[in-house]
Amino acid sequence: MYIEVERLSYSYNPTSPSAYALKDVSLTIEEGAFFGIIGHTGSGKSTFVQHLNALITLPTAEKKFKPKKGVAYPSIRIGDFDLADKHTDWKALRSKVGIVFQYPEYQLFAESVKEDVAFGLKNFSQTPLTPEETEAHVKEALTAVGLNYEEVKDASPFDLSGGQKRRVAIAGVIVTKPEILVLDEPAAGLDPLGKREIMGLLHSLHRSWCKTIVIVSHDMDEIGENCTKVAVFADGELKFLLPPSELFLHDEELEALGLDIPTTAKVRRALKERGISVDTDFTSEDFARQILALGGRHV
Ligand code: ADP
Ligand code: MG
Repeated sequence: MYIEVERLSYSYNPTSPSAYALKDVSLTIEEGAFFGIIGHTGSGKSTFVQHLNALITLPTAEKKFKPKKGVAYPSIRIGDFDLADKHTDWKALRSKVGIVFQYPEYQLFAESVKEDVAFGLKNFSQTPLTPEETEAHVKEALTAVGLNYEEVKDASPFDLSGGQKRRVAIAGVIVTKPEILVLDEPAAGLDPLGKREIMGLLHSLHRSWCKTIVIVSHDMDEIGENCTKVAVFADGELKFLLPPSELFLHDEELEALGLDIPTTAKVRRALKERGISVDTDFTSEDFARQILALGGRHV
C-alpha cells in the first residue's frame, strides 16, 4: 500500500487560521519505503502522522460535512482506503496502518504483557478470535520485537526495563500485522545502545513484518543511516522530499531551518573546506568507504 497525501492543511483552532499546524502538504510515500519525517518541535510532524490512521479526520470524512463550492479539500489515499470518505472502514484502516506514539510505554495498562498486546489485537481485528488464535498472534508479535515470550508473557509491563516496555508497546501495534507501521520518535529518551537496538528492530520488522515504515525523528544521524526518503517539515510546510543522499547536500538550507545535519555531512563539509571532496550517500558505512578510497591521494 502506498500513501498519497494531497493539499493537507489542518488547524487545531479553525477560528484562528494563522495557527495552521499543516499547510498544503502533498506527498507520496511508496510501498516498501523506510520513510523519515524531520522538523523542529512544532513543525507539524505529529499532526501529519495522526492523519495517516484517521486519528485526525479529514473535513470531508466528518459526519456533518457539507461541501462548500470552490474549496479544494485535502485528500489522503492509503492503498484502497480513501480517508476523505466518511464511509471508509476505519477499523480496517487502523489494522493496516499501525501507529506507535511518542513514549508509547506510558499507554501500557494491563496486568500482564500478554494481555496488553492482546488488547491491541482485540481492538482492531476484523473477526473474533479464539483464545488459542489470540495467544498465537501475541506470541508471534512479542517474538518479532525481540522478546522471549515465555519470559515476559505473565510479567507486569511496569516491571520491565524502558527498552522492553517500548518493545511491548510496539508489539501491541504490530500484532494486527499492519502493512504500514508509523512511529513517532521511536528512539526518543533511550540511551545510545537502546536507540541502536530500536532502529535494528525496525529494520528487522521492515524485512519480515511491515512493508512500509514511517518514522518521525529529529536525530539526523538516525535518519541518514536508516531512511530511503525523507520529508522535512518547517512551520507546517513540506520543505524537502528527498532521499538522504540528496537531502544532506542542502546542509546550509537545513541549518537555516534550525535543523542539524548528520555527522557525515559535517565531516564532508569540513573536508570540502580543505579542498577534499567526498561523494557519499551520508551513511557512515559509505562515508568510511569513500574516505578509505581517497586514502593515498590526500593523506
Ligand atoms: P511536532 O510533532 O513537529 O512537534 P505538532 O504536530 O505536535 O508538531 O504541532 C504542530 C503545531 O500544532 C504546533 O504549533 C503545536 O503547538 C500545535 N498543536 C499540536 N497539538 C495540538 C493540540 N492538541 N491542540 C492545539 N494545538 C496543537
Ligand atoms: Mg511531535
